[in-house]
Amino acid sequence: MTIQKTLSIIKPDAMKLKYSGKIIDFIEDKGFSVIAQKKIVLTKSQAEAFYSVHKERPFFYELVDFMISGPILVQIIEAKDAVSFYREIMGSTNPEEAEEGTIRKLYGTNIQCNAVHGSDSIENANIEASFFFSKLEMII
Ligand code: ADP
Ligand code: MG
Repeated sequence: MTIQKTLSIIKPDAMKLKYSGKIIDFIEDKGFSVIAQKKIVLTKSQAEAFYSVHKERPFFYELVDFMISGPILVQIIEAKDAVSFYREIMGSTNPEEAEEGTIRKLYGTNIQCNAVHGSDSIENANIEASFFFSKLEMII
């Protein structure tokens, strides 16, 4: 039982549909604490850098265009085993395949517009948190 932090992003689709409040409630009801949060609009180069791991994938440019299409809400959230637990409650990448009761099943639209991002490893959680937040902003 380890307390960890992970990086969550409420993506432009869920922001436009005004699901951010519901998603924050959902996350907090599962026991997460929000450590830091900011609403931003990514530039193209920031989105390309954030998703650079996917730069060879066929959906990369569409993904970047989607991620810069409107405001996003970026959060550092904390809980027991936060990285794997958040991936679990997010559900599968494709909302159609996501388990009932997961964020993507409840609030996702399709495989691209799937409501949320969550870090996939402890190492990436640290890298992604530092991508968006300064050291000062991460201390609570
Ligand atoms: P996850 O977000 O579940 O970790 P990936 O890391 O594989 O999924 O993909 C990153 C993001 O790219 C997804 O959340 C989704 O927004 C988008 N994406 C993934 N696969 C596809 C696809 N086949 N077509 C369009 N967009 C996709
Ligand atoms: Mg991923």
